[in-house]
Amino acid sequence: MGWISTDSEHEGWAARVAPDGRLSASSTAGGMLFKGITGHFPPDKTLPDYEVIPDRQIIGWRGQCECGWQGEMWERVTSAEAGDLSRRRDYLPPEEPAYASGEVEDAIHEEWKAHIAPSEAVLGVEAAAREYNQAGHRLDKTVAAAKAAGASWTDIGRAVGISRQSAHERWADMPGSEPA
Ligand SMILES: [Zn+2]
Repeated sequence: MGWISTDSEHEGWAARVAPDGRLSASSTAGGMLFKGITGHFPPDKTLPDYEVIPDRQIIGWRGQCECGWQGEMWERVTSAEAGDLSRRRDYLPPEEPAYASGEVEDAIHEEWKAHIAPSEAVLGVEAAAREYNQAGHRLDKTVAAAKAAGASWTDIGRAVGISRQSAHERWADMPGSEPA
């Protein structure tokens, strides 16, 4: 339905906004479905907890994410002259289906991407940390094997790029390694 983050933790979309501020769940033939019964709009015939709000009553759009995040409002205005995307206002004729325009949809997508940017960046840290830990385990194993094969702490330290003393301090207690 919308945009999905790399880790699938976030799914976002451009939601339509009802006059009372509710955000659309999905669409039906008669209009958009909004969760909750206020009595101001006709109830949906099949979903008991939803009301149907006609397209002409949609007051704007905003980003929404499964995690609970919401973007700033993009207001629907009723005349072309009042439309001004730099002020988050877009004109949509009342008789049109209340989809966000391509520009507004793109802008909301950008807002959502900014919302997930920290978690996307942390995925890179996670991947690097995993490799780092795996490399650490491999280093321990190869040092143990080198020691068992008769290499000195000096040889091992040189291979790692540290001093004999540092190599000894780091691995002397490792199971299988001999004292210096
Ligand atoms: Zn999110």
